[in-house]
Amino acid sequence: MLYRKVPKTGDELSILGFGCMRFPAKGRGIDEERTIRQIRSAIDWGVNYLDTAPVYHMGKSEQVLAKALADGYRGKVRIATKMPHWSVVTRADMDRILNEQLATLQTDHIDYYLLHTLNRTAFRRLVDLGVLEFLDAAKKDGRIINAGFSFHATLAEFVEIVDAYPWEFCQIQYNYLDENNQAGTEGLQYAAGKGLAVIIMEPLRGGNLGGRMPESVQAIWDASPVKRSPAEWALRWVWDHPEVTVVLSGMNEEAHIDENIRVAGTTVPGSLSVEERATIDAAKDEFKRRMKVGCTGCGYCMPCPFGVDIPGCFAGYNTHHLFPHDPAGRFQYIGRHSGLMGQTSYAGLCRNCGKCAKVCPQHLPIPELMKQVSKEMDGLVIPVVVPILKAGLWCMNKAGAARRAIFKEK
Ligand code: SF4
Ligand code: SF4
Repeated sequence: MLYRKVPKTGDELSILGFGCMRFPAKGRGIDEERTIRQIRSAIDWGVNYLDTAPVYHMGKSEQVLAKALADGYRGKVRIATKMPHWSVVTRADMDRILNEQLATLQTDHIDYYLLHTLNRTAFRRLVDLGVLEFLDAAKKDGRIINAGFSFHATLAEFVEIVDAYPWEFCQIQYNYLDENNQAGTEGLQYAAGKGLAVIIMEPLRGGNLGGRMPESVQAIWDASPVKRSPAEWALRWVWDHPEVTVVLSGMNEEAHIDENIRVAGTTVPGSLSVEERATIDAAKDEFKRRMKVGCTGCGYCMPCPFGVDIPGCFAGYNTHHLFPHDPAGRFQYIGRHSGLMGQTSYAGLCRNCGKCAKVCPQHLPIPELMKQVSKEMDGLVIPVVVPILKAGLWCMNKAGAARRAIFKEK
């Protein structure tokens, strides 16, 4: 594992951080045993930065992380967690939330404490409520060691927030598709220039830059004399920037964790050749040409009051467009959202209330996009075919129940 220093403190952080927002699932919850195994294995390989938040896994991420860090693991790592600004109404809420987090995480201090997903409006409201004095006090009494913020808004807002407090660090979305989006490269350089450690989230843009690639993008990787997985190309691109301190990966497959740890052991800034950069640029252009919706799957827009699974619908829609010859995208969409195998959550349920668009960090026009998704993905399948299939299933179940009752009587 390679390490980079936090400029203001000299603290050495592993360049790979463990993101705790996408733990492996078991039934409707977290597969705790597997999660704990994965986290401890990553720590044994040198990962020392773990990033969680109260909202991840509906409040369960901090709890499971605390269990993973028992048995001596807490002392080997830095915990990063976040204050949900939307839950803060008074200055007293800030202390209450932090104290609850310390109890949940079973620790007496948070190493890296962030104000979660700031934009200008949220930040100014928190400042008015006394957040800067709160951070000073919590640092002074030792409940937090380093203060930072995570961010999804415009570059101008980012600069305003960076300049407003002597932060030790910040966290931004950054990957080869987002060089000019949100804080982007300019924001990364600005923050690093001010002495902030920069933690990177979404290096694979919600998984879209790793895993299975569209044929035309895969052809670009295949044509390179250097053989790497798409995820490795994407991670190396981020780590190539000397201003980057830690790259967070929401790892939940053992194979991905192993690969990320291997790459994190060999990637130093400035190591990509001119040819390798050109390969990534070509893939970036092709991706941008094909991606329909720039949703990162962050889930901030959820829940939808009318039941739409917003990130799920966009994921199915993107998969459908990235792999047009593969019916898996459409099947996945119908299977997950039609109600055949659970709750109905398809795009056509959208009632255009606009609640989601107000909080989307990517500033996506979600209601308009939902109309498009519904037109292409719901078609006649969900409103017409699915009710017929459901009726068929209902009849089969009734017939099965009747048969069972008759045999029972006999
Ligand atoms: S605009 Fe549509 S998708 Fe968004 S919250 Fe309202 S109903 Fe749900
Ligand atoms: S639509 Fe926006 S808020 Fe919702 S999951 Fe996608 S990026 Fe996040």
